[in-house]
Amino acid sequence: MDRQQQLPKLFIVVPCYNEEEVLLETIKQLSNTIQELVTSDLVAKESKILFVDDGSRDKTWAIIAKASVANEFVTGMKLAKNVGHQKALLAGLHKAAEVCDCAISIDADLQDDITVIRQFVEKYHDGYDIVYGVRDSRDTDSFFKKNTALFFYRLMERLGIQLVYNHADFRLLSTRALRELLKYEESNLFLRGIIPLLGYSSTKVYYDRKKRLAGESKYPLKKMLSFAFDGLTSFSIAPIRLITSLGFLLFFIGVITGSYALFQKFLGATTEGWTSLMISIWFIGGLQLISIGMIGEYIGKVFTEVKRRPKYAVDIDLLERPILSRERDNIIHLEEKDG
Ligand code: UDP
Ligand code: MG
Repeated sequence: MDRQQQLPKLFIVVPCYNEEEVLLETIKQLSNTIQELVTSDLVAKESKILFVDDGSRDKTWAIIAKASVANEFVTGMKLAKNVGHQKALLAGLHKAAEVCDCAISIDADLQDDITVIRQFVEKYHDGYDIVYGVRDSRDTDSFFKKNTALFFYRLMERLGIQLVYNHADFRLLSTRALRELLKYEESNLFLRGIIPLLGYSSTKVYYDRKKRLAGESKYPLKKMLSFAFDGLTSFSIAPIRLITSLGFLLFFIGVITGSYALFQKFLGATTEGWTSLMISIWFIGGLQLISIGMIGEYIGKVFTEVKRRPKYAVDIDLLERPILSRERDNIIHLEEKDG
Protein backbone atom coordinates (compact mmCIF):
# COMPACT_ATOMS: atom_id res chain seq x y z
CA MET A 1 0.00 0.00 0.00
CA ASP A 2 2.82 2.33 0.93
CA ARG A 3 4.39 1.68 -2.40
CA GLN A 4 1.20 2.45 -4.26
CA GLN A 5 1.06 5.88 -2.64
CA GLN A 6 4.49 6.80 -3.88
CA LEU A 7 3.74 5.87 -7.46
CA PRO A 8 3.26 8.85 -9.78
CA LYS A 9 -0.19 9.64 -11.04
CA LEU A 10 -0.02 9.72 -14.82
CA PHE A 11 -2.39 11.62 -17.08
CA ILE A 12 -2.48 10.92 -20.80
CA VAL A 13 -3.90 14.00 -22.48
CA VAL A 14 -5.59 13.44 -25.83
CA PRO A 15 -7.06 16.30 -27.86
CA CYS A 16 -9.89 15.07 -30.09
CA TYR A 17 -11.63 16.80 -32.95
CA ASN A 18 -14.22 14.74 -34.82
CA GLU A 19 -12.50 11.50 -33.96
CA GLU A 20 -15.51 9.17 -33.63
CA GLU A 21 -13.98 6.70 -36.07
CA VAL A 22 -10.84 6.03 -34.03
CA LEU A 23 -11.88 6.88 -30.53
CA LEU A 24 -13.14 3.49 -29.35
CA GLU A 25 -9.94 1.82 -30.46
CA THR A 26 -7.88 4.60 -28.90
CA ILE A 27 -9.68 4.23 -25.59
CA LYS A 28 -9.14 0.49 -25.68
CA GLN A 29 -5.43 0.66 -26.46
CA LEU A 30 -4.61 3.49 -24.08
CA SER A 31 -6.47 1.98 -21.16
CA ASN A 32 -4.67 -1.31 -21.76
CA THR A 33 -1.42 0.62 -21.66
CA ILE A 34 -2.31 2.27 -18.36
CA GLN A 35 -3.47 -1.04 -16.94
CA GLU A 36 -0.13 -2.58 -17.81
CA LEU A 37 1.75 0.31 -16.22
CA VAL A 38 -0.33 -0.02 -13.08
CA THR A 39 0.28 -3.76 -12.94
CA SER A 40 4.02 -3.20 -13.34
CA ASP A 41 3.98 -0.73 -10.44
CA LEU A 42 5.12 2.12 -12.65
CA VAL A 43 2.16 4.46 -12.17
CA ALA A 44 -0.56 4.91 -9.58
CA LYS A 45 -3.89 3.24 -10.17
CA GLU A 46 -5.54 6.67 -10.12
CA SER A 47 -3.85 7.43 -13.44
CA LYS A 48 -6.17 8.54 -16.20
CA ILE A 49 -6.63 9.26 -19.85
CA LEU A 50 -7.98 12.76 -20.25
CA PHE A 51 -9.79 13.25 -23.53
CA VAL A 52 -10.29 16.87 -24.53
CA ASP A 53 -13.13 17.22 -26.99
CA ASP A 54 -12.21 20.24 -29.08
CA GLY A 55 -15.73 21.22 -30.09
CA SER A 56 -16.32 18.14 -32.24
CA ARG A 57 -19.44 18.00 -34.35
CA ASP A 58 -19.74 14.22 -34.39
CA LYS A 59 -20.26 11.66 -31.62
CA THR A 60 -16.82 12.19 -30.10
CA TRP A 61 -18.12 13.60 -26.82
CA ALA A 62 -20.82 10.95 -26.46
CA ILE A 63 -18.14 8.28 -26.80
CA ILE A 64 -15.88 9.94 -24.22
CA ALA A 65 -18.70 10.52 -21.75
CA LYS A 66 -19.90 6.96 -22.06
CA ALA A 67 -16.41 5.53 -21.65
CA SER A 68 -15.90 7.66 -18.54
CA VAL A 69 -18.75 5.79 -16.93
CA ALA A 70 -17.66 2.32 -17.94
CA ASN A 71 -13.88 2.68 -17.75
CA GLU A 72 -12.14 3.79 -14.55
CA PHE A 73 -9.17 5.14 -16.50
CA VAL A 74 -11.18 7.40 -18.77
CA THR A 75 -12.11 10.97 -18.02
CA GLY A 76 -12.71 13.95 -20.24
CA MET A 77 -13.55 17.55 -20.76
CA LYS A 78 -15.45 19.24 -23.52
CA LEU A 79 -14.47 22.64 -24.85
CA ALA A 80 -17.25 25.01 -25.76
CA LYS A 81 -16.04 25.33 -29.34
CA ASN A 82 -13.24 24.30 -31.66
CA VAL A 83 -10.04 26.12 -30.70
CA GLY A 84 -7.46 24.01 -32.54
CA HIS A 85 -5.06 21.28 -31.56
CA GLN A 86 -2.54 23.35 -29.59
CA LYS A 87 -5.07 25.17 -27.45
CA ALA A 88 -7.13 22.04 -26.85
CA LEU A 89 -3.99 20.26 -25.73
CA LEU A 90 -3.14 23.15 -23.47
CA ALA A 91 -6.60 22.99 -21.90
CA GLY A 92 -5.95 19.36 -21.04
CA LEU A 93 -2.46 20.06 -19.71
CA HIS A 94 -3.81 22.86 -17.54
CA LYS A 95 -6.23 20.42 -15.99
CA ALA A 96 -3.58 17.73 -15.63
CA ALA A 97 -1.18 20.11 -13.88
CA GLU A 98 -3.67 20.43 -11.04
CA VAL A 99 -4.07 16.75 -10.36
CA CYS A 100 -1.26 14.58 -11.70
CA ASP A 101 2.47 14.02 -11.25
CA CYS A 102 3.29 13.67 -14.92
CA ALA A 103 1.37 14.06 -18.16
CA ILE A 104 1.83 12.57 -21.60
CA SER A 105 0.29 14.26 -24.62
CA ILE A 106 -0.64 12.18 -27.65
CA ASP A 107 -2.89 12.53 -30.70
CA ALA A 108 -6.17 10.66 -30.81
CA ASP A 109 -5.33 8.85 -34.05
CA LEU A 110 -2.51 6.86 -32.38
CA GLN A 111 -0.06 7.64 -35.16
CA ASP A 112 2.51 7.82 -32.42
CA ASP A 113 3.62 4.48 -31.06
CA ILE A 114 1.97 3.93 -27.67
CA THR A 115 4.32 1.09 -26.79
CA VAL A 116 6.99 3.68 -25.97
CA ILE A 117 4.79 5.23 -23.29
CA ARG A 118 6.35 2.72 -20.93
CA GLN A 119 9.80 4.10 -21.75
CA PHE A 120 8.49 7.62 -21.17
CA VAL A 121 7.42 6.66 -17.67
CA GLU A 122 10.67 4.85 -16.99
CA LYS A 123 12.60 7.98 -17.99
CA TYR A 124 10.39 9.95 -15.64
CA HIS A 125 11.34 7.54 -12.86
CA ASP A 126 14.97 8.17 -13.83
CA GLY A 127 14.37 11.79 -12.95
CA TYR A 128 13.75 13.47 -16.29
CA ASP A 129 11.17 16.24 -16.36
CA ILE A 130 10.68 16.25 -20.11
CA VAL A 131 10.71 13.22 -22.41
CA TYR A 132 10.42 13.91 -26.14
CA GLY A 133 8.99 11.30 -28.48
CA VAL A 134 11.00 11.54 -31.67
CA ARG A 135 10.04 9.96 -35.00
CA ASP A 136 12.67 7.71 -36.40
CA SER A 137 11.34 7.78 -39.92
CA ARG A 138 8.63 9.56 -41.80
CA ASP A 139 7.92 6.68 -44.16
CA THR A 140 4.18 6.83 -43.65
CA ASP A 141 3.94 10.55 -44.35
CA SER A 142 3.36 11.72 -47.89
CA PHE A 143 6.30 13.00 -49.93
CA PHE A 144 4.84 16.47 -49.63
CA LYS A 145 4.37 16.41 -45.87
CA LYS A 146 7.81 14.97 -45.27
CA ASN A 147 9.57 17.63 -47.30
CA THR A 148 7.56 20.60 -46.12
CA ALA A 149 8.26 19.49 -42.56
CA LEU A 150 11.98 19.16 -43.28
CA PHE A 151 12.04 22.60 -44.84
CA PHE A 152 10.23 24.01 -41.82
CA TYR A 153 12.69 22.55 -39.30
CA ARG A 154 15.64 23.85 -41.34
CA LEU A 155 14.15 27.31 -41.57
CA MET A 156 13.41 27.49 -37.87
CA GLU A 157 16.94 26.36 -37.11
CA ARG A 158 18.36 29.06 -39.36
CA LEU A 159 16.34 31.64 -37.51
CA GLY A 160 17.79 30.48 -34.23
CA ILE A 161 14.64 28.86 -32.88
CA GLN A 162 15.36 25.79 -30.82
CA LEU A 163 13.21 22.83 -31.87
CA VAL A 164 13.60 19.12 -31.31
CA TYR A 165 13.95 17.66 -34.78
CA ASN A 166 11.09 15.36 -35.83
CA HIS A 167 9.31 15.75 -32.53
CA ALA A 168 5.62 16.55 -32.61
CA ASP A 169 3.41 16.79 -29.57
CA PHE A 170 4.06 13.32 -28.21
CA ARG A 171 5.91 13.91 -24.96
CA LEU A 172 5.93 13.50 -21.21
CA LEU A 173 6.07 16.46 -18.87
CA SER A 174 6.44 16.38 -15.11
CA THR A 175 4.09 18.56 -13.10
CA ARG A 176 6.97 20.89 -12.40
CA ALA A 177 7.58 21.37 -16.13
CA LEU A 178 3.84 21.67 -16.73
CA ARG A 179 3.44 24.45 -14.18
CA GLU A 180 6.35 26.28 -15.72
CA LEU A 181 4.85 25.88 -19.18
CA LEU A 182 1.57 27.35 -18.00
CA LYS A 183 3.35 30.55 -17.02
CA TYR A 184 3.83 31.32 -20.69
CA GLU A 185 0.71 33.32 -21.19
CA GLU A 186 1.04 34.14 -24.87
CA SER A 187 -1.97 33.42 -27.04
CA ASN A 188 -0.01 32.55 -30.16
CA LEU A 189 0.93 29.16 -28.89
CA PHE A 190 3.64 27.03 -30.36
CA LEU A 191 4.22 24.41 -27.67
CA ARG A 192 7.10 22.73 -29.50
CA GLY A 193 9.10 25.94 -29.40
CA ILE A 194 8.34 26.77 -25.79
CA ILE A 195 9.14 23.44 -24.14
CA PRO A 196 12.88 23.49 -24.92
CA LEU A 197 12.88 26.96 -23.34
CA LEU A 198 11.71 25.58 -19.99
CA GLY A 199 15.19 24.34 -19.26
CA TYR A 200 14.28 21.25 -17.25
CA SER A 201 16.22 18.03 -17.78
CA SER A 202 15.09 16.29 -20.93
CA THR A 203 15.70 13.16 -22.95
CA LYS A 204 14.44 11.57 -26.17
CA VAL A 205 12.73 8.30 -26.98
CA TYR A 206 12.67 7.13 -30.61
CA TYR A 207 9.78 5.43 -32.40
CA ASP A 208 8.27 4.86 -35.84
CA ARG A 209 5.34 6.99 -36.78
CA LYS A 210 2.43 5.00 -38.11
CA LYS A 211 -0.52 5.70 -40.35
CA ARG A 212 -3.67 7.14 -38.88
CA LEU A 213 -5.82 4.33 -37.43
CA ALA A 214 -8.96 5.68 -39.08
CA GLY A 215 -10.54 8.93 -40.17
CA GLU A 216 -8.87 11.81 -41.96
CA SER A 217 -6.16 14.24 -40.99
CA LYS A 218 -7.57 17.30 -39.28
CA TYR A 219 -4.58 19.23 -40.52
CA PRO A 220 -5.23 20.24 -44.12
CA LEU A 221 -2.58 22.27 -45.95
CA LYS A 222 -4.21 25.51 -44.89
CA LYS A 223 -3.98 24.71 -41.17
CA MET A 224 -0.44 23.35 -41.63
CA LEU A 225 0.75 26.56 -43.26
CA SER A 226 -0.85 28.76 -40.66
CA PHE A 227 0.68 26.57 -37.92
CA ALA A 228 4.15 26.92 -39.44
CA PHE A 229 3.70 30.64 -39.97
CA ASP A 230 2.52 31.04 -36.40
CA GLY A 231 5.50 29.14 -35.11
CA LEU A 232 7.81 31.35 -37.06
CA THR A 233 6.37 34.72 -36.26
CA SER A 234 5.79 34.05 -32.58
CA PHE A 235 9.44 33.22 -32.02
CA SER A 236 11.49 35.29 -34.40
CA ILE A 237 11.84 38.79 -35.74
CA ALA A 238 14.32 37.58 -38.37
CA PRO A 239 11.90 38.21 -41.27
CA ILE A 240 11.67 41.86 -40.34
CA ARG A 241 15.46 42.09 -40.25
CA LEU A 242 15.57 40.47 -43.66
CA ILE A 243 13.28 43.15 -45.01
CA THR A 244 15.51 45.83 -43.55
CA SER A 245 18.61 44.33 -45.17
CA LEU A 246 16.75 44.10 -48.45
CA GLY A 247 15.90 47.78 -48.09
CA PHE A 248 19.56 48.64 -47.72
CA LEU A 249 20.51 46.53 -50.70
CA LEU A 250 17.86 48.18 -52.81
CA PHE A 251 19.03 51.61 -51.76
CA PHE A 252 22.54 50.73 -52.83
CA ILE A 253 21.34 49.50 -56.22
CA GLY A 254 19.25 52.65 -56.51
CA VAL A 255 22.32 54.83 -56.05
CA ILE A 256 24.17 53.00 -58.81
CA THR A 257 21.31 53.01 -61.31
CA GLY A 258 20.63 56.65 -60.44
CA SER A 259 24.20 57.64 -61.23
CA TYR A 260 24.00 55.65 -64.42
CA ALA A 261 20.79 57.42 -65.46
CA LEU A 262 22.34 60.83 -64.79
CA PHE A 263 25.36 59.89 -66.82
CA GLN A 264 23.10 58.85 -69.72
CA LYS A 265 21.20 62.12 -69.46
CA PHE A 266 24.38 64.15 -69.90
CA LEU A 267 25.13 62.09 -72.96
CA GLY A 268 21.71 63.11 -74.30
CA ALA A 269 20.06 59.72 -74.48
CA THR A 270 17.18 60.38 -72.06
CA THR A 271 14.03 59.15 -73.85
CA GLU A 272 15.24 55.59 -73.47
CA GLY A 273 15.05 55.31 -69.68
CA TRP A 274 11.28 55.19 -69.38
CA THR A 275 10.93 51.39 -69.28
CA SER A 276 13.56 50.88 -66.61
CA LEU A 277 12.03 53.71 -64.60
CA MET A 278 8.63 52.11 -64.69
CA ILE A 279 10.10 48.76 -63.71
CA SER A 280 11.86 50.28 -60.71
CA ILE A 281 8.70 52.00 -59.58
CA TRP A 282 6.81 48.73 -59.68
CA PHE A 283 9.61 46.87 -58.01
CA ILE A 284 9.92 49.31 -55.14
CA GLY A 285 6.15 49.51 -54.83
CA GLY A 286 5.96 45.75 -54.45
CA LEU A 287 8.74 45.67 -51.95
CA GLN A 288 7.12 48.34 -49.87
CA LEU A 289 3.92 46.40 -49.84
CA ILE A 290 5.71 43.28 -48.62
CA SER A 291 7.43 45.28 -45.90
CA ILE A 292 4.20 46.82 -44.75
CA GLY A 293 2.63 43.37 -44.70
CA MET A 294 5.41 41.95 -42.58
CA ILE A 295 5.30 44.82 -40.15
CA GLY A 296 1.56 44.38 -40.02
CA GLU A 297 2.04 40.75 -39.05
CA TYR A 298 4.00 41.77 -35.99
CA ILE A 299 1.60 44.51 -35.08
CA GLY A 300 -1.10 41.85 -35.31
CA LYS A 301 0.84 39.71 -32.87
CA VAL A 302 1.19 42.59 -30.43
CA PHE A 303 -2.48 43.23 -30.84
CA THR A 304 -3.54 39.73 -29.87
CA GLU A 305 -0.97 39.42 -27.10
CA VAL A 306 -1.95 42.57 -25.29
CA LYS A 307 -5.57 41.53 -25.28
CA ARG A 308 -4.78 38.47 -23.17
CA ARG A 309 -7.97 36.77 -24.17
CA PRO A 310 -8.72 33.46 -22.50
CA LYS A 311 -7.58 30.67 -24.77
CA TYR A 312 -10.47 28.33 -24.21
CA ALA A 313 -13.62 27.86 -22.20
CA VAL A 314 -14.45 24.51 -20.66
CA ASP A 315 -17.98 23.35 -21.19
CA ILE A 316 -18.04 20.08 -19.27
CA ASP A 317 -15.34 18.79 -16.95
CA LEU A 318 -15.78 15.26 -15.67
CA LEU A 319 -13.05 15.80 -13.09
CA GLU A 320 -15.03 18.61 -11.56
CA ARG A 321 -18.35 16.81 -11.71
CA PRO A 322 -18.79 13.22 -12.91
CA ILE A 323 -21.67 12.21 -15.14
CA LEU A 324 -24.89 11.94 -13.13
CA SER A 325 -27.05 8.89 -13.44
CA ARG A 326 -29.71 11.00 -15.14
CA GLU A 327 -27.20 12.05 -17.78
CA ARG A 328 -25.96 8.54 -18.07
CA ASP A 329 -29.44 7.43 -19.08
CA ASN A 330 -29.47 10.20 -21.65
CA ILE A 331 -26.19 9.06 -23.15
CA ILE A 332 -27.34 5.47 -23.32
CA HIS A 333 -30.55 6.69 -24.91
CA LEU A 334 -28.54 8.66 -27.47
CA GLU A 335 -26.50 5.55 -28.18
CA GLU A 336 -29.60 3.50 -28.92
CA LYS A 337 -30.92 6.17 -31.23
CA ASP A 338 -27.63 6.25 -33.15
CA GLY A 339 -28.00 2.51 -33.50
N1 UDP B 1 -7.20 18.19 -33.28
C1 UDP B 1 -7.86 19.03 -32.39
N2 UDP B 1 -8.43 20.19 -32.87
C2 UDP B 1 -8.34 20.56 -34.19
C3 UDP B 1 -7.64 19.71 -35.07
C4 UDP B 1 -7.07 18.54 -34.59
O1 UDP B 1 -7.95 18.74 -31.21
O2 UDP B 1 -8.88 21.60 -34.55
C5 UDP B 1 -6.60 16.94 -32.78
C6 UDP B 1 -6.96 15.69 -33.54
O3 UDP B 1 -8.16 15.13 -33.07
C7 UDP B 1 -5.77 14.80 -33.28
C8 UDP B 1 -4.62 15.79 -33.18
O4 UDP B 1 -5.20 17.06 -32.94
O5 UDP B 1 -5.89 14.11 -32.06
C9 UDP B 1 -3.76 15.82 -34.42
O6 UDP B 1 -4.54 15.96 -35.57
P1 UDP B 1 -4.31 15.11 -36.88
O7 UDP B 1 -3.98 13.69 -36.54
O8 UDP B 1 -5.49 15.30 -37.76
O9 UDP B 1 -3.04 15.83 -37.50
P2 UDP B 1 -1.85 15.16 -38.36
O10 UDP B 1 -1.40 13.95 -37.63
O11 UDP B 1 -2.44 14.85 -39.68
O12 UDP B 1 -0.81 16.25 -38.41
MG1 MG C 1 -2.45 12.47 -36.95
